[in-house]
Amino acid sequence: PMKNKVTVVGSGNWGSVAAKLIASNTVRLSSFDDEVRMWVFEEKLPSGEKLTDVINRTNENVKYLPGIKLGKNVVADPDVESAVKGANMLVFVSPHQFMEGICKKLVGKIGKDTEGISLVKGMEVKKEGPCMISTLISKTLGINCSVLMGANIANEIALEKFSEATVGYSKNKEAAEKWVQLFGTPYFIVSAVQDVEGVEMCGTLKNIVAIAAGFVDGMEMGNNTKAAIMRIGLKEMIKFSKMLFPSVKDSTFFESCGVADLITTCLGGRNRKVADAYAKNQGKRSFDQLEAELLNGQKLQGVLTAKEVYEVLSDRGWVEQFPLFSTVHAISIGRLPPSAIVELGDSKSANK
Ligand code: NAD
Ligand code: 13P
Repeated sequence: PMKNKVTVVGSGNWGSVAAKLIASNTVRLSSFDDEVRMWVFEEKLPSGEKLTDVINRTNENVKYLPGIKLGKNVVADPDVESAVKGANMLVFVSPHQFMEGICKKLVGKIGKDTEGISLVKGMEVKKEGPCMISTLISKTLGINCSVLMGANIANEIALEKFSEATVGYSKNKEAAEKWVQLFGTPYFIVSAVQDVEGVEMCGTLKNIVAIAAGFVDGMEMGNNTKAAIMRIGLKEMIKFSKMLFPSVKDSTFFESCGVADLITTCLGGRNRKVADAYAKNQGKRSFDQLEAELLNGQKLQGVLTAKEVYEVLSDRGWVEQFPLFSTVHAISIGRLPPSAIVELGDSKSANK
């Protein structure tokens, strides 16, 4: 039988770690071709060299994951079309705002029996309504697309510290099992659940709650307040997910993609970090400025996701039912001060 060939579409902080995890398995498992290609959004480093050349020379993504060897079988390619050529397994892992452009470039370039998986946390909102990234991928490219989400701060997994993740699939259980095999290691335990929408909503929505948690940290309000914000946020995550997708299962929120990802992101993620700085600066510096100053090219997802979710809420007349999500949006655009995060009003419907 033909060997499976994997390409990672994306090479940021998590994209690079995903490539490392996958590459450690393709050399070990005979059903996979050893080589893992990784598409790199090309940029020039301060040294004048191209990032792709440096990755291929040093085996390290010196900008987005410095100090970590990716595995000699990872090959960086700045051309997305040539990167996916011949691959039958595509791993999508880019900040969500770039996914539509990436998918458009790949139309007509992908084999029919290709399987996709999205590690992207976020959603698109169009005139017709919200569109999950896995749906954007499957609709634009005509392929089946699973998702992998979890409590996965990339820098910790790069150091091979124990963690877990959840694969969400809709119909194709066999494909999900192949993804579990491709990603799983003794320090990265992956399990699959048949609830692609639930898993993807968890990964998407927790980034909004993490912004709220960062505000609480920035105002030094303490652990009880932060726990309260996480609890209210989880309630809104469950409620919003089910209102959009009635098939979403309660049990999904107890997987790694649910409560565990919410906790780790609110404790140690980038959304938390930048929102903390925003509150400390009393909103005098914008999120865009702080992102650029603090993250060295890495991207926040929570502020944009709060805006996108707010569009859905206002479009459907649901704003009052989601005081935390709405307030995070209002604070992040400067309409309310960070202190408003603990003044969620009498709209208690989501946190009963
Ligand atoms: P990142 O935040 O490190 O993003 C930077 C990447 O975006 C770089 O590869 C950069 O080259 C690329 N980029 C910049 N401008 C671009 C453009 N115009 N077009 C296309 N690409 C461009 O990326 P990441 O951490 O790999 O995050 C990708 C996804 O994974 C996000 O949805 C994130 O929420 C999710 N995620 C991240 C982590 C983490 O700890 N980093 C963990 C789990 C999930
Ligand atoms: P941040 O983007 O806030 O760092 O969260 C990373 C993440 O998704 C952990 O699972």
